[in-house]
Amino acid sequence: MKIKNFGANLVFEPANYFAPASEEEVVSILGRCRGRNIRVVGRLHSWSDAPRGDDVLLDLRHLNRVEIEERDDGVWATIQAGCQIKKVITELDRRAGMTLPSLGLITEQTIAGAVSTGTHGSGKHSLSHYIDEISIATYDAETGEPVIRTIDSGDELLAVRCSLGCMGVILSVGLRCRPQYRVEEHMRIVGDCEDVLAAEEAYPLQQFFLVPFLWKYLTQHRREVATRRSFLAPLYGLYWFLGIDLGLHLVLKTLISVLRSRQLLRFFYRQIVPLTILRGWRVTDTSANILTMEHELFRHIEIEIFVKRSKLVDTLRFVRRLLEYCDGRSDAVDDETWSCLEERGVANSVREMLGNYTHHYPICVRTVLPDATLISMASSDDEPYYALSFISYSRCQERDSFFRFANLLAETSAILFNARPHWGKVCPINSQTAEQLYPKLPEFRQMCDALDTGKVFRNQWLKDVIFQGSSAVEWHDADSPLSPKK
Ligand SMILES: Cc1cc2nc3c(=O)[nH]c(=O)nc-3n(C[C@H](O)[C@H](O)[C@H](O)COP(=O)(O)OP(=O)(O)OC[C@H]3O[C@@H](n4cnc5c(N)ncnc54)[C@H](O)[C@@H]3O)c2cc1C
Repeated sequence: MKIKNFGANLVFEPANYFAPASEEEVVSILGRCRGRNIRVVGRLHSWSDAPRGDDVLLDLRHLNRVEIEERDDGVWATIQAGCQIKKVITELDRRAGMTLPSLGLITEQTIAGAVSTGTHGSGKHSLSHYIDEISIATYDAETGEPVIRTIDSGDELLAVRCSLGCMGVILSVGLRCRPQYRVEEHMRIVGDCEDVLAAEEAYPLQQFFLVPFLWKYLTQHRREVATRRSFLAPLYGLYWFLGIDLGLHLVLKTLISVLRSRQLLRFFYRQIVPLTILRGWRVTDTSANILTMEHELFRHIEIEIFVKRSKLVDTLRFVRRLLEYCDGRSDAVDDETWSCLEERGVANSVREMLGNYTHHYPICVRTVLPDATLISMASSDDEPYYALSFISYSRCQERDSFFRFANLLAETSAILFNARPHWGKVCPINSQTAEQLYPKLPEFRQMCDALDTGKVFRNQWLKDVIFQGSSAVEWHDADSPLSPKK
């Protein structure tokens, strides 16, 4: 059976595929497959090699119950691993008037998949941070028999909160829910990044976009409010669905893949996009209606880098220069940046990209509060992280320049700003860089080795990047003659 991810850049064929109907069945499969390599997939919405499993592959889509109970004066949910986020939030709202403490842009992922890669939205911690209990199927260190373990404290919990499938098969996760809430949103176009960041105090849930070619910030100022749902909220929802989810993406796909015109793309962002933004219209709606969108309607591919707040302004400045340079503006990178790139040995890689990549999607910037985890991208003991995402809607067979850009972005931003690429998105990282970016990686390895003594729950990519020596990873399309390139 061939397995293909959402982005169609990861295709593999496991030797055995199982979709167990119960936790007992998972344990029985582990019993039968002792000594073999075992991986689990969620809904394959990762672009990285994280879900890959070439030997035994488990899909827990049938384990999708949500249990809700009162615990310690709060509402607690135990959610089975294969339950999609959209079902989780519908059930929590319908049965208890509650919701998840953090939401990403879409709700297609499974809860275990989202947690395992540190999935995040804006203004909160990642989902991983909020998980207080995980039930996991693994092998007993002494007897080698399959067992179910519950992890709810200590470094083990910090590790398993974002563990990329390396600690065993997650059966369910437990977390404290929060009461359903409403979010007010209005949009503005702002010229200066400092002004956008200053607004964060008033709008802690905001996210913003650096619009290519216009080089201004489209901000979605968002805050939690106690007021009622706006009368016009359904109309606003329709505007988003028809105007952005469908309209914007159809226009972009036409410009990129049919007309293939850089000039029209520039004209579109400079002249048309500002006219389509409904500035100042304040709308209040329930959390999921404002915070999520139908971003999964059109196939695309994405790399997202995370930098600390103190590096954000410089990173955004660098990103703009790099994108303009790649688009053909040879004077876009200033002398100071060149000397920095020369010093770090990456100037030539940048030079090779002159005129070879045109970015065609707004760069979304989201705040992620410091996560209490070992290796989620926002794992931090001090500052919050900011996630900058770079999306391409090019056809699958025409993604080579995007992959070259993603490799360059990951390399230069790690060197200059200690930027961490999202584990679940295009993630060109080698073990040396991982070591430099994640100070708690040694503890993570220890926890994995203790829980997975046979080292059967890690795939080759994770072995290369997380568990041993260095091997540079470059990314190409699954169907490209260049792939897989590791
Ligand atoms: C359109 C789109 C929008 C997105 N938006 C966001 C966003 O807003 N914010 C963000 O942070 N990310 C976002 N992502 C990335 C996505 O949230 C993550 O890649 C997430 O991990 C995908 O979940 P999944 O259920 O598809 O898991 P998969 O991609 O199938 O797997 C992800 C990882 O989880 C592991 N895993 C899954 N289930 C289990 C289990 N039961 N036990 C052990 N390990 C398991 C897999 O082995 C793998 O390592 C987006 C992706 C897409 C395609």
